[in-house]
Amino acid sequence: MHLTRRELLQYFGATAATGLIGPGCIGWTREEAIPVDSWHKSVCRFCGSGCETRVGLRAGKVVKVEGLQEGWNRGRLCIKGLLNREILYVSDRASYPMVRKNGQLERVSWDEALDAAAAGFREAIAQGGPDAVAFYGSGQLFTQESYTANKLFKGGIGTNNVDGNPRLCMASAAFGYKSVFGADEPSGCYDDIEHATLFFVIGANMAECHPVVWERVRDRLRTAPETRVIVVDPRRTPTARDATLHLQIRPGTDVALLNAMAYELLRTGLVDAAFINDFVTFREGTADSPPLTLEDLRAFLEDYAPEKVANLCGLSSAEIREAARLFGISQAALSFWTMGLNQQTHGVAANRMMMALHLLTGQIGRPGTGPFSLTGQTNAGGGVRDTGSLSHALPAGRVVTKAHDRQDMERLWGLPEGRISPNPGLSAVPLFEAMREGRVRAALVMATNPARSLPNADRYRVGMEKAFLVVSDSIFPTDTARYADVFLPAAMWAEKEGVLSQSERRYHLVEKLVEPPGEARSDLDILVALGERLGHGALLKARTPEAVWDEWRMISAGTTYDFSGMTYARLKALPGLTWPCPTEQHPGTCRRYVPGEDPLAKKEGRIDFYARPDGRAVVFLSEQGPFREALTSDYPMTLTTGRRLEHWHTATLTGRIAQLQGIDIDSLEIHPGDAAVMGVKEGELVQVTSARGTVRLKALPSMRVRPGVVFALMHSTEHLVNAATSDYLDPTSAQPEYKLASVRVERVKEGT
Ligand code: SF4
Repeated sequence: MHLTRRELLQYFGATAATGLIGPGCIGWTREEAIPVDSWHKSVCRFCGSGCETRVGLRAGKVVKVEGLQEGWNRGRLCIKGLLNREILYVSDRASYPMVRKNGQLERVSWDEALDAAAAGFREAIAQGGPDAVAFYGSGQLFTQESYTANKLFKGGIGTNNVDGNPRLCMASAAFGYKSVFGADEPSGCYDDIEHATLFFVIGANMAECHPVVWERVRDRLRTAPETRVIVVDPRRTPTARDATLHLQIRPGTDVALLNAMAYELLRTGLVDAAFINDFVTFREGTADSPPLTLEDLRAFLEDYAPEKVANLCGLSSAEIREAARLFGISQAALSFWTMGLNQQTHGVAANRMMMALHLLTGQIGRPGTGPFSLTGQTNAGGGVRDTGSLSHALPAGRVVTKAHDRQDMERLWGLPEGRISPNPGLSAVPLFEAMREGRVRAALVMATNPARSLPNADRYRVGMEKAFLVVSDSIFPTDTARYADVFLPAAMWAEKEGVLSQSERRYHLVEKLVEPPGEARSDLDILVALGERLGHGALLKARTPEAVWDEWRMISAGTTYDFSGMTYARLKALPGLTWPCPTEQHPGTCRRYVPGEDPLAKKEGRIDFYARPDGRAVVFLSEQGPFREALTSDYPMTLTTGRRLEHWHTATLTGRIAQLQGIDIDSLEIHPGDAAVMGVKEGELVQVTSARGTVRLKALPSMRVRPGVVFALMHSTEHLVNAATSDYLDPTSAQPEYKLASVRVERVKEGT
């Protein structure tokens, strides 16, 4: 089937403009004569917006998925949300375990597969110690699964080599929040959208990547047309088309822009002096460096006057001034961002400056205000960031480098003192580099496809080839499964039970509704079975989703992540709960740090940044710094990547949906002027070459991109866009710089 986007949206009964499904949609709707036996509450499997659904069952199968009217999404789903049903029933679901024998994966029993996995891990540990093994997880695992993997590897095996794909998308935001506020995750909630008078969207194409949240923004624009929207994006995206002011920035210059806006806010006096005086401190480098002053910041920003950075940013100084003015005069400014800000070597600095704009103007802690990063995956926040399933972290905001935090977790997990290593483990990209070099000899990869999603992917495929790789995945074959020595089939969303948390810190329970295909098992069952075979069964006493959740609630108690009040019974009955939620009577917290709203904010007054020792948030003096990869005569253009509405990430899931097969995911957007200079016409094959690798795509001349910038979707299943992307890392967050790579674009001559 080959469908245009419009035909596709009609097929799904969506509005052609947005691809949203909801009661307010105009046009014909999908009303199939499918009888439903029972309806059940659930959550969309895809993006970190976390749309709530109701799932219709018939004869043991999911037959219908709709938006939940009582959910925050008001009954809406985007096209991917509707595909929650389809992904369960794609034809090539993995249904039995396999072990590689004589170079081929062969069907075996679960016992044989798990024994082989355990033997591979034991051998690696015997040869290289605990740090010769690793876990690479995913923001698509349930919280119970990430938590159990973290416990098994850090507390049982004794290695901090636990990381996952959230390192690739959200690490810079997590490090930004932690350094500025002392605790990770956004402070506000989706209800703030109804109160905002300015939306500042930077590095996020929300209309396609978080479309239901964006539709709520559009609701606000419809009811309060005086509301302003600033979009900062190198592309003229569908989100930018809704903007009052679109800053078509040069990729990788966000820190300079945000510094220039801060300069302008200070110059024009559009700052909140009382808020700064009462609740803000100034630092450079780290949060415990010697305190600086507002005057130090003012002096620092002299180099970032709009006219000094306009050229670097590819903007006019008037545009920058106007952005600062709109931000400064707004009654309630709400900022959204995601990968565009995070995926660069200045990602943490950009996040810190984004938060600084809110602190300088006092735009936080009131309805409609605050810095609000959006999560890419369903459970990257709850499953990975909150449970500390990253190589530097421990549960609920603790870190491996602090003796007190390690001792806390050793006590809670019933471990002898000194069991948890004080050394940070390997984060995502260095982990696969260590496999290449033979330092990591065995790894368990769960619910993610690093062979396609890592930057400079060909380099790290070599590591996957060399290591003893155990892959647990819901769908076969992924690119990563091709490197597996042991392959374990996993259950998906409605086939297993667990909890996940989305962008506004809302935890949801996803109940098991149907049986997985064949012999597939939940990732929690797989982790427990592997832990038993590795001799850590006693550590993994909690083995059911509810028992693990209760243990996790207990671990969170008394921390700034307190979920103690989120019982299973409450999660079953309610459309989610937002944390902090310290008691079973607490309704959940919309705005953190606000006395009277956040139960952990004890001080009287406007705000209490209780996660910082002095109760003050930090404004960092943050340099733009040089580009990690300069433009040269060999590589004169900038490649940036992103997503489109209908597909998700590497399209491992959505690429298998028959109805989406005709959607174009293999084009390279190039400015018509650049295309003309190259003599390239629409549909012709072009080769994109970086210092790392090449990818061939179809040219799509488009005014959506700036001259000198080309844009590719990350979804292509036929071509490996990540062969060319950059694996340079932010020095603080270790997040790779997917969003800019210096490239050469050439027309491919026929026959070559
Ligand atoms: S916006 Fe995200 S969570 Fe909501 S339906 Fe679409 S993919 Fe699912």
